[in-house]
Amino acid sequence: MPTIFSKIISGELPSDIVYRDDLVTAFRDINPLAPTHILIVPNKEIATVNDLTDDDERIAGRLFLAARRIAEQEGIAQDGYRLIVNCNRDGGQEVYHLHMHLLGGRPIGPMVVRH
Ligand code: 5GP
Repeated sequence: MPTIFSKIISGELPSDIVYRDDLVTAFRDINPLAPTHILIVPNKEIATVNDLTDDDERIAGRLFLAARRIAEQEGIAQDGYRLIVNCNRDGGQEVYHLHMHLLGGRPIGPMVVRH
């Protein structure tokens, strides 16, 4: 079964794609938590950070390089932004297709809410 993000990457599901290359695709989050909230997703299905292998080194690096380019494109590079990758239950991961959140456009606030 393809993930919901694979369906977005293939065009089967609609989305607002802001960046695409041979290794990753980025689109706006459907439920944005900041003025800029973009998900950067490997084109290849990798469920979580735990599933990355040494062969995925270029993909892992590309997530960061794409984030840098998109931040510039969105005009938020200088003011700053936050990159988040959630892993499994305790990390709060909801979609099991690895993705990096790019959040900016306002001060994002404390890194983690204290409980
Ligand atoms: P996670 O909690 O797995 O790190 O984040 C999943 C993110 O995917 C959430 O921020 C959620 O709003 C977003 N999301 C879930 N389904 C869709 C969808 O169909 N389209 C888009 N653009 N974003 C989605």
